Amino acid sequence: MELIVRNDLRRPDRPHAIVIGSGFGGLAAAVRLGARGYRVTVLEKLDAPGGRAYVYQQDGFTFDAGPTIVTAPFLFEELWKLCGKSLADDVELRPVSPFYRIRFHDGAGFDYSGDPAAMRAEISRFAPGDLAGYERFMQASEAIYRIGFEQLGHVAFDSITDMLKVVPDLLRLASYRTVYGLVSRYVRDPQLRIVLSFHPLLVGGNPFATTSVYCLIAFLERRWGVHFAMGGTGQLVQGLASLIEGQGGTIRCNAEVKTIMAEGRRAIGVRLVTGEELPAHVVVSNADSAWTYRELLPPKFRRRWTNKRLKRAQYSMSLFVWYFGTRRQYPDVAHHTLLLGRRYKELLEDIFERKVLASDFSLYLHRPTATDPSLAPAGCDTFYVLSPVPNLGGSTDWRSQAEPYRRAISAALSESLLPDLEQNIVTSRMLTPLDFRDRLNSYQGAAFGMAPLLTQSAWFRPHNRSEEIDGLYLVGAGTHPGAGLPGVLSSAKVLDSVVPDAAVFA
Ligand SMILES: Cc1cc2nc3c(=O)[nH]c(=O)nc-3n(C[C@H](O)[C@H](O)[C@H](O)COP(=O)(O)OP(=O)(O)OC[C@H]3O[C@@H](n4cnc5c(N)ncnc54)[C@H](O)[C@@H]3O)c2cc1C
Repeated sequence: MELIVRNDLRRPDRPHAIVIGSGFGGLAAAVRLGARGYRVTVLEKLDAPGGRAYVYQQDGFTFDAGPTIVTAPFLFEELWKLCGKSLADDVELRPVSPFYRIRFHDGAGFDYSGDPAAMRAEISRFAPGDLAGYERFMQASEAIYRIGFEQLGHVAFDSITDMLKVVPDLLRLASYRTVYGLVSRYVRDPQLRIVLSFHPLLVGGNPFATTSVYCLIAFLERRWGVHFAMGGTGQLVQGLASLIEGQGGTIRCNAEVKTIMAEGRRAIGVRLVTGEELPAHVVVSNADSAWTYRELLPPKFRRRWTNKRLKRAQYSMSLFVWYFGTRRQYPDVAHHTLLLGRRYKELLEDIFERKVLASDFSLYLHRPTATDPSLAPAGCDTFYVLSPVPNLGGSTDWRSQAEPYRRAISAALSESLLPDLEQNIVTSRMLTPLDFRDRLNSYQGAAFGMAPLLTQSAWFRPHNRSEEIDGLYLVGAGTHPGAGLPGVLSSAKVLDSVVPDAAVFA
């Protein structure tokens, strides 16, 4: 295999790997497969790579559609290293501080950062009685990180034995508790409990239901920082695309896969919606895992992930995202702000359980021009505001609700952080759960795939090596370990242990 990689990068007869979808998981998988000797073709439905990290250029403003909080930068660095390069050659990652500015409905504020002294000072000001409990929570977070991320994040979990082996660790770490439940064992102040437990929302989960394994994020962020890619997250997408092309791989946009073709119980390639057939030695799907099984792999090949079982599974929330540019700047607004409404647990129940669109909301406001002014014309600001909403398992009619919902959010922002907002908007666009379903092919319009519940994690999640047919592999948010950039980059790393070396087919 080494010989193939080093000497024959452009050999057209190298074993062929197809990657369906160019989200971060798909691009990372392509780089890894290319480094292992495969000739890689990435097939993307949209007109540009990135998936949820698509970039909209509009009226002189640059809008990253999705991820902007970059944690665990070493996972990106590994991909550049595989190509003999350094991440810094192509992308500048700039640390952001505070990580998040959290603003409660009663006006209380909390600057959440990775600096232990600054965090201690914030907690002493906010809830002094919880300082010792916070320190113990961070120790617990580190212990969970060591096991949950370092040891289990890159295991394929495609046998029940793999799962049984980790049960003692999971019990010891109290993974049966929820994130909110675990945090509540360490701190008492109701607002501090929210500050330390909102992280699952970044990967689509309800803090009151998500396994406490996700408490590892607190330590991950402190250890490695929260970064922003200068020029926008799109720079990371472009950087990965260049790595793939440098390896002799191809990214074909406007190329939607209709079916994964199989012979016996082995994947042999894909058929596009145009009817074109592309043979491959291995097929990796970066499309949503539920969509991959429901729509791309015919039912006769499916024993575990039947339509019935997929329907029964629980899916992450969806998102309403409003991207807008303003003709003025709002210099007091931090890069990442959480604006929490009056209701928290009840609002989350509306979103995740009752699946109704509430008239109140909690928002995440992104102002990338706080770090990189080049993303807006001079004197202007670029924003997006994101509101967690029910997925399409509910019955909200987004065709009629989107604009009134946007107006309500705009009014709330005008009253709080962005005075006179409506008069200052110069460009605007929205993304609703319908876009997650119709544009990004996500079952039930879920923004983060299957929900991160303990009963849908590791062996219980659709496997990275398909349980259904040989030669098919899954990467991205809907497989192990889960959503978020560290999760999907790790899922690509898992493939190194289950996809055979290209030499096997050579
Ligand atoms: C608004 C938003 C903000 C977020 N913010 C953050 C953040 O700050 N930090 C963070 O770590 N995470 C964040 N996340 C989560 C993170 O973005 C995702 O978990 C991650 O990007 C998903 O990557 P993926 O590899 O699963 O692929 P996706 O990005 O889901 O891409 C899948 C691709 O497959 C393509 N596809 C689907 N079906 C087909 C087909 N049949 N044929 C061809 N192509 C197909 C789709 O068009 C898409 O391009 C955010 C998510 C959203 C939506």
